[in-house]
Amino acid sequence: MFHFNQFYLLFALPGLLLGIWAQIKLSSAYGKYSQEPLDSGMTGAQAAREILDRAGLTNVPVQEVPGHLTDHYDPTKRALFLSTDNFHGQSVAAVGVAAHEAGHALQHQAAYGLFQARMALVPITQFASAAYMGIFFLCIFLGLIKIVIPVIIAIFSVITLFQLVTLPVEFDASSRAKEQLFRLGLVHEHERTGVAKVLDAAALTYVAALVSSILTLLYYITLARDSRR
Ligand SMILES: [Zn+2]
Repeated sequence: MFHFNQFYLLFALPGLLLGIWAQIKLSSAYGKYSQEPLDSGMTGAQAAREILDRAGLTNVPVQEVPGHLTDHYDPTKRALFLSTDNFHGQSVAAVGVAAHEAGHALQHQAAYGLFQARMALVPITQFASAAYMGIFFLCIFLGLIKIVIPVIIAIFSVITLFQLVTLPVEFDASSRAKEQLFRLGLVHEHERTGVAKVLDAAALTYVAALVSSILTLLYYITLARDSRR
């Protein structure tokens, strides 16, 4: 099938390997620092609550969600969700992740431009990701072979743009998190490295996702150019 050729691996492999490496780094950093207790004895939930309250975001609830590293801030609900481990965890890793999610709430409050842009891109990206296979098979079914590649390029452009915007938003949330944790005295000097290591490892997974999308997009652009010859 023309969808895959021998060059596909060449484009897919670097993103895949980087993704695996990022996951290994994250598991090892998170594994190590989720065992390291904080001097303050705070849980992730308490640290997030403190950061939010001190920023005047007393109306943003901090709730527990099941799953591993399912932590996120939901801008539509204006609520912060922490995985069980980080909600109850009294570790450097739990407090670091919780503060990162609180960092997203601070971005929302500050109407940080890239955060707003990312929010606006969520529905269209969700549609593009969900519609990807459907549109692909519909084009083949209708015999619209010529437009399959342009359609896939359009879909991957949307996904890549979303990940491109996500990256600085994630880095910014982590730097807000570190700033607040130290400023409010929730994390002490010797605990800084652990927080930074966990948050940097988490950011690397977003870098891997972006690289993977860019390469997939390049693959289809190459395919489109080749088929025109
Ligand atoms: Zn984040």
